[in-house]
Amino acid sequence: MAVKVFDKPDGKVRLDAISADPPKGMTREKAEERFATLGQELFDLQDAMFGSRVNSVMVVLQGRDSAGKDGAIKHVVGCLNPRGVIVTSFGVPTLEERQHDFLWRVHRHAPRLGEFSIFNRSHYEDVLVVRVHGLAPKSVWKERFGHIRDFEELLAEHGTVILKYFLHITKEEQEERLLEREEQPDTAWKLNPNDWKERDHWDEYTGAYEDAISRTAAKHAPWTVVPANAKWYRNLVIAESIVEALRGRRKDWEKTLDEMGKSGRAGLDAYRAQVAAKK
Ligand code: ADP
Repeated sequence: MAVKVFDKPDGKVRLDAISADPPKGMTREKAEERFATLGQELFDLQDAMFGSRVNSVMVVLQGRDSAGKDGAIKHVVGCLNPRGVIVTSFGVPTLEERQHDFLWRVHRHAPRLGEFSIFNRSHYEDVLVVRVHGLAPKSVWKERFGHIRDFEELLAEHGTVILKYFLHITKEEQEERLLEREEQPDTAWKLNPNDWKERDHWDEYTGAYEDAISRTAAKHAPWTVVPANAKWYRNLVIAESIVEALRGRRKDWEKTLDEMGKSGRAGLDAYRAQVAAKK
């Protein structure tokens, strides 16, 4: 899949030059079939990661309103064992959160080893909405890129596989989705005039996203620009990317599981020998 991935800082990111549509030849049927296969592989990978506790995963989902963060979470989580998954949504910071540094609320939700953590919005809001709406002076938010790089490096050193996704939709697609919400009773709860207000800042958000991606892309914390105009393709791209990032680690996890099994069995044998000796 020729999806745009940024894994080096300062790569020039131009979102308008990246298609938000599925590539030619990709059909919904093919995508859903492949997604089902990947889903099974993802489940197995998560199982091995959970048991071995060598690594953890942090998936960051960012995108404009209606880009499909909730839908992507529903589909990815649907492939996983809920036992090891935690989804955290980051909204407008509370008073307590505002009284701390901007990473405080995020760091608390960083995954433990073995866990699969999904962020619906994240620390990136502090260089996106905060920048676009002037909620902090430039001197403050500019410094945050460096803080974010250091933070993610720290997590990666601790074994966290960090995967960041920008769900890329066009302005036309967003309009359709927002209007559709108004017509469907089951999505009426999502109606929010703010979504339309935010649309007026489309270009500013584009610039803020481009900067955030190019300044924080790293080998250990890549950004994938997910063509998200079609929901079925969006799901496929994310699943494929997560599986690709984890697949290479499986041997390591299985080795650890094997060692854990051996030491567990040795413990059991010793216990049984003790019990037998007492008889
Ligand atoms: P969502 O739009 O993700 O479904 P909400 O309707 O609760 O969920 O919106 C969350 C809002 O919180 C968004 O408008 C987002 O920009 C805002 N937000 C998140 N983080 C911050 C932050 N650090 N500072 C200001 N606003 C934030």
